[in-house]
Amino acid sequence: MEVITRFAPSSTGHLHLGHAYSAWLGWQRARISGGNFLLRLEDIDSTRCKPEFNNSILEDLRWLGLDWDGDIRVQSDFLPDYRAALQKLDARGVLYPCFCSRSEITRALAAPHGGEQKYPGTCRHLTLGERKARAAEGGNYAIRLNVELALEAVKDFGFYEEDIGYIDGRPETLGDVVLGRRANKASYHLCVVHDDAAQKVTHVTRGQDLFDATHTHVLLQRLLGLPTPTYAHHPLITDADGRRLAKRDGAATLRGMREAGVSAATVLGQLRVVDRQNATL
Ligand code: GLU
Repeated sequence: MEVITRFAPSSTGHLHLGHAYSAWLGWQRARISGGNFLLRLEDIDSTRCKPEFNNSILEDLRWLGLDWDGDIRVQSDFLPDYRAALQKLDARGVLYPCFCSRSEITRALAAPHGGEQKYPGTCRHLTLGERKARAAEGGNYAIRLNVELALEAVKDFGFYEEDIGYIDGRPETLGDVVLGRRANKASYHLCVVHDDAAQKVTHVTRGQDLFDATHTHVLLQRLLGLPTPTYAHHPLITDADGRRLAKRDGAATLRGMREAGVSAATVLGQLRVVDRQNATL
C-alpha cells in the first residue's frame, strides 16, 4: 500500500518547533517509504485565520527542506463539500441544534454538578417543537454530534496507533462536539475527517493533544463510510518550564529562529534529538 501522509496546520499563526516536529515526522514517514507527503492549509475559521500565515507556513517548510507532493489543499475552497458531509450526518439522525451561548456553557461546566469538561448536552433533550421555535428566532446556532445516538449507529470504532496497536474508541471523551453552524460553517472535526479521506491519507502523524479528537474522528469516519488511516500521536515539545509550545504564548517561531540566524540544519538536528528522547520514553 502506498503511504500518504500529510501536514495540516491551521492558518492562525506562525509555525513553531512543535509544528516542525509534526511536519518532519510525516515527511520522513512518506519519504522513507517512497510515498507522498501532502500539505493542507486549515483556514476555515475566518475569525482567526489570516492569509499572511499561509505564506509564512510555506516559507518555513521550504526553509526546512520539507517538500510536499501535488497541490496544496486549502480548506476554504471546499466549503460546499463540508456542508454536504454535514447533511449526510444529519440524514443519519445523529445531529442536533444547540442554542446555548458560550457563557451558558461556561456556567454549566463551572456548576458543581457540571462534572467533565465537555458540553453537558443541554440542547440534546429539546423536543422537535422546541428546536423549531428556537431556530425560527433567526439567530445563529451550533450543530452538534449526538454521541449517544452515533454509538448506537456504529459498531466498531477503534483504530490502529503506530507502534502501539489497536486502540478501542472512546468518542464519549470529547462528547457532543460542534460539527458546524447554521451560518454555513463546518468545524475542524468535520473538515479534517472529510479531507483526510479526500486526500487518501493513509497515515496521520500529529501531536498527542489531538489524541482524544482522533476518537471522535474515527466515529465520524464510520458514520460517513470513510476509511480510517493509521495514527501516530507524538509527544508535544515543551518549553524550558515544561509547558507545551503554543502560538498564543508567543513560543519561539521558526520565522523568529531564522531571523535570529539559526540554521535549518540546527532546527532539524534539534528535532532529531527530541525524537530520540521520545523513542526512549
Ligand atoms: N490544523 C490542526 C492544528 O494545527 C491539526 C490538524 C490535524 O493534524 O489533524 O492544530
